[in-house]
Amino acid sequence: MNQDYIIADPWSLIEQGFNPKRVESSESLFSIGNGAFGQRANFEENYSGDTFEGSYIAGVYYPDKTKVGWWKNGYPDYFAKVLNAPSWIGINVRINDEILDLHTCLSVSGFRRELNMKEGWLSRSFKAVLKNGVEVFVSSLRFLSLDIDELGAIRYKVTPLNSDATISFEPYLDASIKNKDSNWDDQFWEITKIHRNSERSFIVAQTMKTAFKTCTFMQSNCFLNEQPLTLTSESVETNTTITDRYTQRVEKGTVFEIQKFGGYTVERTHGDHLVKAANNVLDQVEAQGFELLLASQKQAWASIWNQADISIEGDVKAQQAIRFNIFQLNQTYLGTDPQLNIGPKGFTGEKYGGSTYWDTEAYCLPFYMATKDHFVARKLLEYRYNHLEKAIENAKILGFSNGAALYPMVTMNGEECHNEWEITFEEIHRNGAIAFAIFNYQRFTGDFSYTLEKGVEVLIAIARFWIQRFNYSSEKERYVMLGVTGPNEYENNVNNNFYTNYLAKWCLEFTIETLHKIEQEYPVAYQHILDLTRISNEEIEQMDHISKNIYVPFSEKHNVYLQHDGFLDKELIPVDDLDVNQRPINQKWSWDRILRSPYIKQADTLQAFYFFEDHFSTKQLQEHFDFYEPFTVHESSLSPCVHSIQAAKLGRMDQAYQFYLQTARLDLDDYNQEVHEGLHITSMAGTWMSIVEGFGGMRVKNNTLSFTPQIPSEWKAYSFKVNFRGQIVKVNVTNLQTTFELEGGEALDIIVNDYPLTISPKNLVAI
Ligand code: BGC
Repeated sequence: MNQDYIIADPWSLIEQGFNPKRVESSESLFSIGNGAFGQRANFEENYSGDTFEGSYIAGVYYPDKTKVGWWKNGYPDYFAKVLNAPSWIGINVRINDEILDLHTCLSVSGFRRELNMKEGWLSRSFKAVLKNGVEVFVSSLRFLSLDIDELGAIRYKVTPLNSDATISFEPYLDASIKNKDSNWDDQFWEITKIHRNSERSFIVAQTMKTAFKTCTFMQSNCFLNEQPLTLTSESVETNTTITDRYTQRVEKGTVFEIQKFGGYTVERTHGDHLVKAANNVLDQVEAQGFELLLASQKQAWASIWNQADISIEGDVKAQQAIRFNIFQLNQTYLGTDPQLNIGPKGFTGEKYGGSTYWDTEAYCLPFYMATKDHFVARKLLEYRYNHLEKAIENAKILGFSNGAALYPMVTMNGEECHNEWEITFEEIHRNGAIAFAIFNYQRFTGDFSYTLEKGVEVLIAIARFWIQRFNYSSEKERYVMLGVTGPNEYENNVNNNFYTNYLAKWCLEFTIETLHKIEQEYPVAYQHILDLTRISNEEIEQMDHISKNIYVPFSEKHNVYLQHDGFLDKELIPVDDLDVNQRPINQKWSWDRILRSPYIKQADTLQAFYFFEDHFSTKQLQEHFDFYEPFTVHESSLSPCVHSIQAAKLGRMDQAYQFYLQTARLDLDDYNQEVHEGLHITSMAGTWMSIVEGFGGMRVKNNTLSFTPQIPSEWKAYSFKVNFRGQIVKVNVTNLQTTFELEGGEALDIIVNDYPLTISPKNLVAI
């Protein structure tokens, strides 16, 4: 683990010292994004050592033809890839005609990199001695603007330290970029136009197959000791790149600076007017300049933090970690566009294709509901509503009918785009998480309009899938569900996965309850739904009948629900008895051995206990936690957070805290030894849940916000804010007391430790 590599700081990630082995990990950790696009923290100047280049544009993907050994009917045709986009950040630096490259320099000293999360910028500085003997001091600062979300800005400075030097800055656009994870080594981009107009350059390109049109653009200005220079650039074009060159004789100790502005305009927002839109962005740059843009960036982040920050006193590593998680979530998704969603790696890597998984509904929704206005969370729900037709087609391909919908496990546009059958494809539980999110949104926001206008159609289609997917077992005299994979991907094709059966049962009940509510309270809308979906009373009765007769496996001996029918046949050796050298098992064991083992990748039965906490007693939670957690290897980033919340609920704060650190510092400390591939964005919302739902015990019950605050012994205090139905509640917990404050609005009734409490604006209540 990288425990001490990132310096602990409450608001920043700081790396000191240059270690070529850490370049790729740091490229992930220091990634920046603005919801519309993002990039790994690649160096601006040339780097010939190991590096993983990555710039990504939200919603721009490529359907890479599926590569499987043995084709099975029902496989999706393609595996969608988030595309490595043309890069706009590069600036080659030539010093007395030698290229600056930290991999080939004679020495690098004083290397420092900072990701300032409070203000939303990334900086780097170092001294380097080139092979030609020139020593330079270099500093750079880069940000992706939140205000103008098609724009990024770089300020890059070079000072020769031991002699005068001729320095050239060569800012460039590069569309020759490829994905590391390409299946067939295809070319993903077709360049349609490379174009230069005075000091502005543009590459218009479109993705192959999907034909997403984008324009990558740049414009640069140079300065000497902060005084603007009027240097005319030489420009060189190739088939895939365009490079400018600004050359200046620079005296020893003088700062030569380039400000480079660049970014992307996309067809989704501008149709065919991409170059015009890029020019508009650059006009705004000219009007404002680097400093003003940076000031707006700081302000935009200040307003995000004002609502979303969690502060922790007395534990700087925990503080840094939670802010890192909140920061990355906001860099990935801001709820501005219902066509976008939250990829498990955000803009920080290629794995998981940047696609949408059940992670969004099961893990991310609560974070967005509580830290933003509710329309942001609603956009996430609408994303699935907009894909309903495709989900119905998807189920049809598998043989389902009558408007049954199976949402994809992995998607970019509503189509299934993953090619692993047993893992992912058989994880039909995702349908349940999508229905649960509708309930969760309604429970938290009190807004029934989404369910009424759109959600109910989704619920009906999902319920139709479940009633066809269960089959009646005359042996068990119950409805059973065969051949699924639960959230635990370390066992596939199991029968009667408790989580899936229980969730499906709940979906049927919730659909019926929702239909009854609409029938009684909104008769006109009810008739419209009947006309639209052609749902009949017989069908509703069938849903009711099946839901009441679903089989859920239970062990009398252990007094627990069983993860699936065959779980007790496994050799039940707890994880603690495994040799540590055998871990992580997904890197050390054959797939055959993993599938036969009792080891659980992430909360499975316990995921049902998380969603449906009120259906079970605390004693039952404790029994199930004590039965399953000892077999859980937590090799999914989504695992520790649920366990942290449950350990807190059981009053096991030490364990809850350990799980918290594991979820919060998963990437910073590289627990799973894979951070170089990118960050685990969706599980970052789980980190937020660990504090707010776990330690703070926040729940919404009967339209009332409730808390059962606890505090880890390592902390002096922590505080967070929750946007509850338009009113902002600030909670501050110390080991002596908890205080509640209300921002604006009217008095609010809440429940604390099972007792009612009224909080009113500007009136601090302590208990
Ligand atoms: C987890 C899945 C998750 C996916 C994307 C996998 O490792 O097992 O539950 O949806 O990652 O985060």
